[in-house]
Amino acid sequence: MGPASSVRNAGKFPGKLDAVVIGSGFGGAISCCRLAQKWGKGVLLLERGKRYPMGSFPRAPHQMADNFWSDPNDKVRRPRHIHNRSLRGMYDIRNYSNMDAVVCAGLGGGSLIYANVFLEPPEHVFASGWPAGIDRDFLRPYYDVARNVLGARPVPSWEEDPRRRIARTEFFRDFAREQGRESRLADICVFFGNNYNYKDPQSLPLSIGLQEKNRYGATQTSCTYCGECDVGCNTHSKNTVDLNYLHVAEHVHGARIQTGCLVEKIVPLDEQGDEDTTADGKHGYRVHYLELDDAATFVDTQRVVVSAGTLGTNELLLRCRDVHRTLPRISRQLGQRFSGNGDFVSFVVEGKKAADPNYGPVITQYSDFNLFKAHDPQRSFILEDASYPVFMAWFIEGMQPMLNPFGLLRKVWHTLKWLWKRVMRTLIGGKWSGQVADLFHEILKGDLSYRSSVLLCMGLDKGDGVLSLKEGRLDIQWPQKSSMPLYRAIVDCGKRFKAFAGSTFFTPLPTWKWPMRNNITVHPLGGCALAHDSERGVVSAGNDRGQVFGYTGLYVADGSLLPGAVGANPAATISAVSEWIAEGVTGNIPNADLGAYHLHKI
Ligand SMILES: Cc1cc2nc3c(=O)[nH]c(=O)nc-3n(C[C@H](O)[C@H](O)[C@H](O)COP(=O)(O)OP(=O)(O)OC[C@H]3O[C@@H](n4cnc5c(N)ncnc54)[C@H](O)[C@@H]3O)c2cc1C
Ligand code: SF4
Repeated sequence: MGPASSVRNAGKFPGKLDAVVIGSGFGGAISCCRLAQKWGKGVLLLERGKRYPMGSFPRAPHQMADNFWSDPNDKVRRPRHIHNRSLRGMYDIRNYSNMDAVVCAGLGGGSLIYANVFLEPPEHVFASGWPAGIDRDFLRPYYDVARNVLGARPVPSWEEDPRRRIARTEFFRDFAREQGRESRLADICVFFGNNYNYKDPQSLPLSIGLQEKNRYGATQTSCTYCGECDVGCNTHSKNTVDLNYLHVAEHVHGARIQTGCLVEKIVPLDEQGDEDTTADGKHGYRVHYLELDDAATFVDTQRVVVSAGTLGTNELLLRCRDVHRTLPRISRQLGQRFSGNGDFVSFVVEGKKAADPNYGPVITQYSDFNLFKAHDPQRSFILEDASYPVFMAWFIEGMQPMLNPFGLLRKVWHTLKWLWKRVMRTLIGGKWSGQVADLFHEILKGDLSYRSSVLLCMGLDKGDGVLSLKEGRLDIQWPQKSSMPLYRAIVDCGKRFKAFAGSTFFTPLPTWKWPMRNNITVHPLGGCALAHDSERGVVSAGNDRGQVFGYTGLYVADGSLLPGAVGANPAATISAVSEWIAEGVTGNIPNADLGAYHLHKI
C-alpha cells in the first residue's frame, strides 16, 4: 500500500473518473476527444502547459526570451540561461549527450509549434521493427480520419491570387528537378476556409485573412502567409488540435481539461480504492499531479491514457517503474528503440537566387531522397523547405555585424557613397527631398534572409537510442555513429543545394565538432514500442491495443509507441495509431465529425 492510501480525494474530482488523459498533443487530443465521445465529463485531461487563445503567442523580444519550459526542481540539462529557472513557456529544450531535443508545452502540445505537415511514410517503413499486421494498409482508415479532421491538403494554387505564390516552394522544386528527384507539395494542416478541398479539388480557398468558424465550432482565420507557424499562429490559421479534437471534446462532449497540471506519478488501486503497487490496474488508478500555481493533488480513475509525448511518457513511466516503484510490471523494454527520426537542419546562406524564406506556411513541399522511391535503407531521407518569421529576418539583419563583418562593411561603404552623392546633389540643387525613401532602399535592399534557405531533412536513422534515468531524470543515449551514413548523405545533399543556390555558406547542424556536436531532434520517437509481447515492446499491438503489458486500463497513445524512425514527419502516424487505440478503448469506430453532428455537416 502506498503512503497516500488513507487520503481520499476531496478535491475537484471526487469519486472515480472514467478516464484521465495525460498530455494534449496529437495522441492526447485524439484520446481525449474519442473517450469523451463515450464517457463525456467522466474524462479529464491534464496538461502541464498553458492555453493559447487567438493572439496570445508571445512575440516581443522580452516575451520570446522567456518562452521556455523549465522547472528548477527537474534535473534535465537545459541551455544555461533557462536552467534552474521556473519558466512556463512553450519551448521545452533539452540537452542530452549526442542529441538535443525540442518539444512543446501547451494545450495542443507539439501541434502549437509544428510545421503542419501530414505525411504518411512509405509502406516499407512498417516492414522493419513494426509488429506483424500493423502497416500502412492496416492503418489506412485511421490515417484517413485524422487527415480529414486535421484538414490536411497542399497550399492553394496561386493562379487565382498572386499573393499565394511562394518563391521558396518553386526554388526547392527546381533543386529537386536538377537532382533528378521528385518534389511534391506536402499536405499541410492549415486553414484556408471550410470549403477548400475537403470534397472538391476545384474548390477555392477563403480569401486571405477572412475568418469563419471551422467545422467544429472554433473560429479560424484563412492563412495570412506570415511564416510564423513554428512560433505559434496568432491568427489560429493552423489546424492545431485545440481547434478540432480538443475543442469538440471540451465544448461538445463535456470533457474536463485542466492546464498547468504536471503529472508526477500513477499508482494502481486495490478493490477498496486504496493505492496498491502490486495491483494490475483492474480497479483503476490514482494519478498524482502538481497544480503548478497551487499544490500537489490527485485524482482516481478507471483508466489512464499516457500521452505526454515521447520524452514525457518515457520519463513518467520510467520513474513510476524504477523510482516510485508504483508500476513495477512495466516491460524492461521501456526506453529502448529511441529514434530522432533522422532530423537534420542546415542553412544555405546568401545565394544568388531569391529563396524568400519569410513568406508562407513553414513547410510547403518535400523532395524525395530514397525514402519513398529507390529505397536505400542506409540513406533514406526527405528534404523540406522552411520559412521563418519576418521578425527573425530583421533580427538577422541586426546581427549582421557579428555574423558577417565584411557584408556590413560593404553595406556601410555603399551607404556612405550614397550619402556623399546626395549631399553633393543637395548642395548643387539646393534642396533635400525624396531622399528618405532612397536611404531606406539603400540600407535594406538585398537582406541576407531573402537569398538564404533553411533545409529541413528527416529520414530513417537507426532507432538504436536508449531512454533511461540518470539521477532519477530522463537521459538519452544516442549512438550517433550508427546513423552516420544517413547524416553524411544529408550533408552531401546540402552541399549540392549550396552549389545550386550559388551560395557562399553552408552550415549544417550539427558539424559534430565544437560547439555543434549534437544532433537536434524535433521528432523524438520510441521507448514504449508497440509489440505483440513484453519481450519485444512495452505496449500491446494485439487485441489490447495500446495497453501497457502487465496492466489493465493503462494505455499509451503518442510518439513513444512508434518502434523506430518513420522517415516522414511523424504526426500523421502518431495520429493514426492513436485513433486506432481509442477505437479499441471505446469500441467506437472513429469518424471525422467527432460526434459533433449538430454543428456542421461535413
Ligand atoms: C518546431 C517543430 C516542428 C514540427 N513540425 C512537424 C510537422 O510538420 N509534421 C509532423 O508530423 N511533426 C512535426 N513536429 C513533431 C510533432 O510536433 C510531434 O511529433 C508531435 O507533436 C508528437 O505528438 P505527441 O502526441 O507524441 O506528443 P506532444 O505533441 O509532444 O504532446 C505531449 C504533451 O504532453 C504534455 N506533457 C508532458 N509531460 C507531462 C506531464 N508530466 N504532465 C502533464 N502534461 C505533460 C506536454 O506539455 C505536451 O503538451 C514538429 C515539432 C517541432 C518542435
Ligand atoms: S503562415 Fe502564418 S497564418 Fe499561415 S498558418 Fe503559418 S503562422 Fe498561421
